[in-house]
Amino acid sequence: MKHRIVVLGAGYAGAFAAGSLARRLSPADTEITLVNAVPEFVERMRLHQLAAGRDLAFRGLADIFAGTGVRLRLARVTGVDPERRTVAMTGEDGDGELAYDTLLHTLGSSVAHHGVPGAAEHAFDVTGRSSALRLRERLAALGAGGTVLVVGEGLTGIETATELAESRPDLSVALAARGGPGAWLSPGAQRHLRRAFDRLGVAVHEHTGIEAVEPDRAIAADGRSVPAEVTVWAAGFAVSPVAAASGLEVTGTGQVVVDRTMRSVSHPDVYAAGDCVHAIGENGRPLPMSCASAGFTNMQATAAIIARLTGREVPATELKYYGNHISLGRRDAIFQTVDGDGRARSWYLGGRTAARFKAGVLKGAGWGTAHPTFGMPTRRRRLAAAPDRAGTAAGARTAA
Ligand SMILES: Cc1cc2nc3c(=O)[nH]c(=O)nc-3n(C[C@H](O)[C@H](O)[C@H](O)COP(=O)(O)OP(=O)(O)OC[C@H]3O[C@@H](n4cnc5c(N)ncnc54)[C@H](O)[C@@H]3O)c2cc1C
Repeated sequence: MKHRIVVLGAGYAGAFAAGSLARRLSPADTEITLVNAVPEFVERMRLHQLAAGRDLAFRGLADIFAGTGVRLRLARVTGVDPERRTVAMTGEDGDGELAYDTLLHTLGSSVAHHGVPGAAEHAFDVTGRSSALRLRERLAALGAGGTVLVVGEGLTGIETATELAESRPDLSVALAARGGPGAWLSPGAQRHLRRAFDRLGVAVHEHTGIEAVEPDRAIAADGRSVPAEVTVWAAGFAVSPVAAASGLEVTGTGQVVVDRTMRSVSHPDVYAAGDCVHAIGENGRPLPMSCASAGFTNMQATAAIIARLTGREVPATELKYYGNHISLGRRDAIFQTVDGDGRARSWYLGGRTAARFKAGVLKGAGWGTAHPTFGMPTRRRRLAAAPDRAGTAAGARTAA
C-alpha cells in the first residue's frame, strides 16, 4: 500500500509543502492529498488591499496542482484523530474521513477577538478572504466623512489603516494602539511611520486599549468613546482550533508543539508548519507568525518527512527571522531588519524603494506558492522501507 501523506491547509505553508513533497517523492509509493476549505490559494498578505477595493484574482488550487500528482480535496477539516490517524472533514459531498500515515498540519490562523464584547458581532477583519470582502462591501456603502477605526498597532493594523486611508481619502480613518504604533521599530522608522500617518491623514489614538465594540463606536479602557461606523479588528491572530481539539500537544495559544524538525512531540507521524506551529528559531525564541516563518517551517517539515521516509539524515533548515516589511499604502513602506535577538537594528529602508521591494516580496511569495513545483529539481525518491508507526523508514537517521 502507498504511504499516505495528508496536508491540511493550502496557504503559504501547505500549498508549497504539498508541491514540494510531490516533486521529491515517487508517486509509485506515496500518495499526497491536500485538503483546503476554499478552492483558491488565498494570498493573505494582500487581504487588506482586497478590503480597500483593489481587484485581486487568486489562482485556483485545481489549476495550481494540475499534473503534479497532488490530490486535492475541497473540504473543511473538523477534526483529527491522531490515534486512528484519520482526518474528519465536511464538504460539498457531506461529511467524510481521510486516513493518513503522515500528516502535515498547516491550517493557519484567523482573527482573535480576545473576548472583547461586541468585537465578534460588530467588528470587521482582514484575516480571511470572506471577511475582507465583507469589509470591502461595507466600506463601499460608507459615504464621505464616514468613520473607520482600525484596532491594533501591529503590522496588520498599520498596513490596513494606511491602505484604507490612501484608497479612501474621503473617509476619516483612525488607528487605536495600546501603546505607540510601531514601538518595536527603530527610532528612524518610527518617525517615518508617523510622517506616513500624517500624510495619509490617519489619526492615531495612542495608549488606547479598546474594551468594547458597538455598531457605531468603540469604547476605550478609560471609558472614552471613539466614533467608528466601521471597526476593523486587527489586534491579533488566533491559530486554527483543530490541533488543540485533536489531542495533539499544543501551547496555551493552540500552536502545535514540535521538535527542531517540525514533528509533533506528542504524535511523531504529525508535522506542523506556518502560523499553527510553535517553532523555536535559531535565537531560542518562537518564530513570529509570518509568511517568512511559514516558508522556513514548511521547508523544514517537508525535508524531515522526505528524509525519514527515504532513509536519509534529516537536514536542518535555518529558522531565522530577518525583519518586518510593512507596506504603508502603495507608494510607501518600511523595511526594518532585526538583530539575532529580534530587536530592530538602527538601519531601515523607507519610502518608494521599500514599497517596490515589498511589492516584489508579495509577488514572489504569491507566485512561488502558486507554482509550487516550478524550478525545483524533480528527484522523485523511493521510500527506503515500509515506514514504522512513527513515519520513519527503517534505518533512517534523524538530525535532532
Ligand atoms: C492582511 C494581512 C497582511 C499580512 N502581511 C504580512 C506581511 O506583510 N508579511 C508577513 O510575513 N506576513 C504577513 N501576514 C501574515 C501571513 O499572511 C501569515 O503568517 C501566513 O499566511 C501564514 O501562512 P499559513 O500557511 O500558516 O496559513 P494561511 O496562509 O492562513 O493558510 C491556511 C490555509 O488553511 C485553510 N484552512 C483553515 N482552516 C481550515 C479548515 N478547518 N479546513 C480546511 N482548510 C482550512 C485556509 O483556507 C488556508 O488556505 C499578513 C496577514 C494578513 C491577514
